[in-house]
Amino acid sequence: MSILKVAQLGHPVLRKKAEPVAPDKIGSPEIQTLIDDMIDTKNEYSGAGLAAPQVHVPLNIIVIGMEANSRYSRNGDILIEVMINPKITDFSEEMEEDWEGCLSLTDLWGVVKRSVAVTVTGFDRKGEEVEVRAEGFSARVFQHEIDHLHGKVFIDRMSDLKSLSFVREYYKYGRRQESEEYEV
Ligand code: ZN
Repeated sequence: MSILKVAQLGHPVLRKKAEPVAPDKIGSPEIQTLIDDMIDTKNEYSGAGLAAPQVHVPLNIIVIGMEANSRYSRNGDILIEVMINPKITDFSEEMEEDWEGCLSLTDLWGVVKRSVAVTVTGFDRKGEEVEVRAEGFSARVFQHEIDHLHGKVFIDRMSDLKSLSFVREYYKYGRRQESEEYEV
C-alpha cells in the first residue's frame, strides 16, 4: 500500500475525461492495488473522497466515505465505498448550498449548490453491479467525485465565485460555524 501524489489544479489529468474500466479487469492486481492506494491516500490527507484522476490515473474509479470517529462523524458515518464506472441516474430536484474543498485545490473553499440526493449505479470492487441512493453529505461527495471523472472541479460548479476563500481566511471570518468541513 502506498500514499500517492495528488495532482493539483493545472495538471492536465484533472481536465481530461477519464476512461471506463473494463468489468473483467476490475479484479486485476493493478486495479485492486490502485483502489487500496486511493483509500490510503484519501485517509492520509483526511479527504471525504478521491477520484482516480486526482492520483494521475485517468480511469473511472472513485472512493468515498470516511471511517467512524473521523472529523466528519457529525455528518454521520459514511463507510468507505468504492465505485467503478459510476453514473448518476437520478438527481433530486431539491438542491442545497454548502462549502466544498478539494485535495487538488489545496486550501481553497467555496460554496457549491448540489442536489440533496442522487442515485448512483456502477460496479463495486468485486465487479458486482451496485446501485446506491445517497443523501446529504454523501450525495454531495458522490457528485463532486464523479465531476472529477468528467474533468470538472468544484469551482466550475460555483454560481458565484465571491465565496471562494483560502482556508485561513475561511476560519478567520467564522464561516465554519454555518457549515460542515471536508475536502474531496
Ligand atoms: Zn476534489
